[in-house]
Amino acid sequence: MTATAPSPASPAAQPTAPPAAPSVVLREVGPRDGLQNEARLLPLEEKQELIRRLLAAGLRHIEIGSFVSPKAVPQMADTDQLCRTVPRPPGVVYTGLVLNARGYDRAAAAGVDAVNLALAVTETFNRRNQGAAPGESMAVFRDLVQRARADGKACSITLGTAFGCPFEGEVPEGTVLRFVEQAAGFGVELITLADTIGVAVPTQVVRLVRAARRVAGPDVAIGCHFHNTRNTGLANAYAALEEGAALLDASVGGTGGCPFAPRATGNIATEDLVYMLERMGVATGVDLEALIAAARWLEERLGHPLDGQVMKSGPFPSRTAAPAAGGEG
Ligand code: ZN
Repeated sequence: MTATAPSPASPAAQPTAPPAAPSVVLREVGPRDGLQNEARLLPLEEKQELIRRLLAAGLRHIEIGSFVSPKAVPQMADTDQLCRTVPRPPGVVYTGLVLNARGYDRAAAAGVDAVNLALAVTETFNRRNQGAAPGESMAVFRDLVQRARADGKACSITLGTAFGCPFEGEVPEGTVLRFVEQAAGFGVELITLADTIGVAVPTQVVRLVRAARRVAGPDVAIGCHFHNTRNTGLANAYAALEEGAALLDASVGGTGGCPFAPRATGNIATEDLVYMLERMGVATGVDLEALIAAARWLEERLGHPLDGQVMKSGPFPSRTAAPAAGGEG
């Protein structure tokens, strides 16, 4: 199942390692970021069905929900129950988004595989979202990382508003990097830079990912989380990949938005990202047709058009011969 056996006819040559194929982990955040801003609350059975469809499409890293106050985010009120009732095939990692110790308790009790601790690096946003200064959130996270380690759970920290803040505007790179350094010092295995409101551009992504990788050191992976609010999402994802980002968040159908971020729209669509990566030769392990079907199914459940593009246009080349499109060339 691993390497291809060398053909006896092939000329004898020094065995050389094949060039390392670029690779990236896709973390599907549709069930969390995608649904948290929707007017229609998906019932538990439909969330379970969504997860089943995502698994069937080949996704293996799924942010299943957040463990936050159901009063603040009613869409996430049943995350605990969802977590306890989803299939657990080997290799699948369910991540729970956590903002504080209470959330950690719930996530651990519900049996998540990984905990994603999230804060905003800007004071105004974090106070509005979490009622604490960013430094106060980090002090709590320091303990939660230790607890996650003791509980045998993977643990990451997501730095929100890393590319810009709706209240404070431009965010100095040095501010973000101080949080990266601190988070790396806690011993997390992954730090995700999040463009919460979709303002990043590729050159900024190159600079920040490069600097974050340097500051975090070789043992900590850098991930990215992009919203497509200003249509730069996929360009940013490409920039992040080129700079060695190890993980990209995306949401099926391009669902998403933050209830606390004014006018935030969806994440980059997972199927659009899969299409781009596969055509670039980056294997994702995802069945694009199945994922498109999942996006269309979700669109029907949510009752409004989703932002994803490939779910509308279909894959290329098509598995089945499609009639040639007419019209001008
Ligand atoms: Zn987001």
